[in-house]
Amino acid sequence: MSKTIAINAGSSSLKWQLYNMPEEEVIAKGIVERIGLNDSIFTVKYGDGQKFEKVEDIPTHELAVQMLLDELINLNILASYDEITGVGHRVVAGGEIFKESVVISEEVLKKIEDLAELAPLHNPANAAGIRAFKAILPDITSVAVFDTAFHSTMPPVAYRYAIPTEYYEKYGARKYGAHGTSHMYVSQKAAEMLGKDIDEVKIITAHIGNGASITAVRHGRSIDTSMGFTPLAGVMMGTRSGDIDPSLIPFLMEKEEITDVNEMIEVLNKKSGLLGVSDTSSDMRDIIQARKEGNEKAQLAFEVFTDRIRKYIAQYFAVLNGADAVVFTAGIGENSNWVRTAVIEKMSWFGMEIDESKNVFGVEGDISTPDSKVKVLVIPTDEELVIARDVERLKRFE
Ligand code: AMP
Repeated sequence: MSKTIAINAGSSSLKWQLYNMPEEEVIAKGIVERIGLNDSIFTVKYGDGQKFEKVEDIPTHELAVQMLLDELINLNILASYDEITGVGHRVVAGGEIFKESVVISEEVLKKIEDLAELAPLHNPANAAGIRAFKAILPDITSVAVFDTAFHSTMPPVAYRYAIPTEYYEKYGARKYGAHGTSHMYVSQKAAEMLGKDIDEVKIITAHIGNGASITAVRHGRSIDTSMGFTPLAGVMMGTRSGDIDPSLIPFLMEKEEITDVNEMIEVLNKKSGLLGVSDTSSDMRDIIQARKEGNEKAQLAFEVFTDRIRKYIAQYFAVLNGADAVVFTAGIGENSNWVRTAVIEKMSWFGMEIDESKNVFGVEGDISTPDSKVKVLVIPTDEELVIARDVERLKRFE
């Protein structure tokens, strides 16, 4: 039995999940938060509900990985490092280069770093995670799983922007999308749940977490998605604006006397979305609580958020010429019946109706009425499992 670890590295965090493969059994999982800041938080969940937590300064990703491996041994989860035979890394942007998961060589890693233009917040952090593991476990199979790969099947009509062709040809200025691993996983699960072959179904997947995107999936292939050149586009998110008129950028820069365009993009990435409109929080739980207490800005933030999701779903009914199911997944999609109801209640014309007795916290599966022509499904995503499976698959080719 070999062990595989799935890694999702952010700029100040490292989320991980350790599997026995090929059994796909989760042995332990955890997160290191606040890497590079004071009082980093290191958490491990394992066994039957055991939890280990410590708080200390962890200045780099490499130290976070070292601490993680040491702690897995201290907690008797591993007998030695050698038990880990593979590591899979989530990488947000694969551009037009990576259309599927790959074994990471030095050349691949260099390309991932070069693709930082497409995901400036994510790729450098993903690469830092990869380098940290390479330094400590240089001999194990190391695989990159790209968020954009599932969207590589999009046709030009979906991925091209209506800007001069030479910008696409010279610089790859096009839509790439993200969250592909999640959209792929839940669309396959949805086909299973509908009792149909993936080649027969049309599914609209709504990955709604702190980051959010909607995808049109025809016969198992992504044919359009809401995120764009970078993950900033599409629906409104926790702190990202989603689609806006690009003319607002120079206008606001002038009014606010912002001279560096990166500063403006930072506002759109980190200070907008739920946080920007509500002036309260980027976290949907706080928004729901605040609107219950009569906070009007939080109410508006909730309404704009659900309006944008509904509009993208409606677009994708047109792109797909109808759909068999709409799937909700990720932190908000899986957990918030309020959001699901608000999105779907104005879509009865599209043949969707939620059975509110099923639409409760913790539900999984079909939440629509028997008469609902289009099924509304809640499916927990599992990007880590897809990553572990890809490591297992690619190990054979090493
Ligand atoms: P993710 O990025 O997928 O981890 O999702 C994070 C988002 O899920 C945050 O906005 C959370 O507030 C939201 N979330 C988690 N649990 C709930 C819940 N019970 N109700 C509403 N939102 C939730």
